[in-house]
Amino acid sequence: MTAPTLDATVPQERRLVTEVPGPASRSLMARKLSAVAAGVGTTMPVFAARAGGGIVVDVDGNQLIDLGSGIAVTTVGASAPRVVEAVQEQVAAFTHTCFMVTPYEGYVAVAEALNRLTPGDHAKRTALFNSGAEAVENAVKIARSHTGRQAVVVFDHAYHGRTNLTMAMTAKNMPYKHGFGPFAGEVYRAPLSYPYRDGGTDGVVAALQAIDVIEKQVGAANLAAVVIEPIQGEGGFIEPAAGFLPALATWCRDNGVVFVADEVQTGFARTGDMFACDREGVVPDLIVTAKGIAGGLPLSAVTGRAEVMDAAHVGGLGGTYGGNPLACAAALAAIETIEAEDLVARAREIEAVLLDRLRRIEARDARIGDIRGRGAMVAVELVHAGTDVPDPELAKAVATAAHRQGVIVLTCGTHGNVLRFLPPLSISDELLHDAFDVLAATFEVTR
Ligand SMILES: *Cc1c(COP(=O)(O)O)cnc(C)c1O
Repeated sequence: MTAPTLDATVPQERRLVTEVPGPASRSLMARKLSAVAAGVGTTMPVFAARAGGGIVVDVDGNQLIDLGSGIAVTTVGASAPRVVEAVQEQVAAFTHTCFMVTPYEGYVAVAEALNRLTPGDHAKRTALFNSGAEAVENAVKIARSHTGRQAVVVFDHAYHGRTNLTMAMTAKNMPYKHGFGPFAGEVYRAPLSYPYRDGGTDGVVAALQAIDVIEKQVGAANLAAVVIEPIQGEGGFIEPAAGFLPALATWCRDNGVVFVADEVQTGFARTGDMFACDREGVVPDLIVTAKGIAGGLPLSAVTGRAEVMDAAHVGGLGGTYGGNPLACAAALAAIETIEAEDLVARAREIEAVLLDRLRRIEARDARIGDIRGRGAMVAVELVHAGTDVPDPELAKAVATAAHRQGVIVLTCGTHGNVLRFLPPLSISDELLHDAFDVLAATFEVTR
């Protein structure tokens, strides 16, 4: 099975008609520099004109292979036919009434879909927001309201967003926090299971170490929530050892602490399960979703146990745009696409291609320290050969060379030494192989 949801109007091949960036992108970049705040950076100096399937077409007519999905957002593709049609229909009907003023069915239908799809078959409720960070903040509000406690525990290498509370929850200083303090209080950091760098510590043992830190430095009686990404995103696609997440979830349940899974990056078929928590049968009390939820439209959600979600008083949750009708129409169409096209299975096929191609590079190249991740969320951690010393310069060099040859690839990691692969699930095997031919050649020439 390949490319089930392509937009047929975007040709599915890599094709360069100018150097990258071309003249049209360069002139737009000059305008960007004088009009847009410098703090808003771009991975590539290339402007998009259209996108679909596994291709982004730039303003010079170059066709680039998309291994980023706009940071794990366009999981169903950037112009998935069902999403395009649903949004066109909704925009002609009405754009906004505000769900808190005169509600509409789309919001309720998205809540029902999330209550059905997320882990666990207990009674659930959902609230919708705009961004991942906003949803994480609301999960914390809800957990505090439910428990009457204040403290929040997060983990090393965590990324939860750029608002004030979520900056406090995010681990990495540069670029996310530097100079932007003071940060929200009552946020504590625990050690994470990181198999490549903790000597392969057993997952349950690593969880007991984290729990010890939590009990000694915070105290369960003060703790409202433990918030964790089941596979870390910006932190470097770190996948905790088996047993880590279940042990933490169990400790939370035993201590009346709300266990919150931040599945903003991992959700909606990305990891080869509908949600990453599904792999080990972990049932979070609250699950935070965004990114892949709505085929590219801004939407986020908190879904969880009815008694936890309903703890916040009437009027305590919401926002002007939360659950916008266009975003809800897009989400219903994206979810329908994931289910109808069995994109969970497609993510596992993509995993097989990505892992095979990366292992073939690794066999010839000692600078590949670790290959990890699941589904269409796979990364390589790059190190100086024969050591485990991070090599961010190599990650940058490979990414930049790939960009020039028409492959969109992203970096991540606390040390910036991780190349991450997040293709849309609408990409074909042919495009994946072409992209990895480019990457493999790039590794050869940087040796
Ligand atoms: C991207 C991300 C966020 C923040 O989402 P925004 O929509 O950018 O606010 C939060 N958590 C995780 C795990 C993310 O990957």
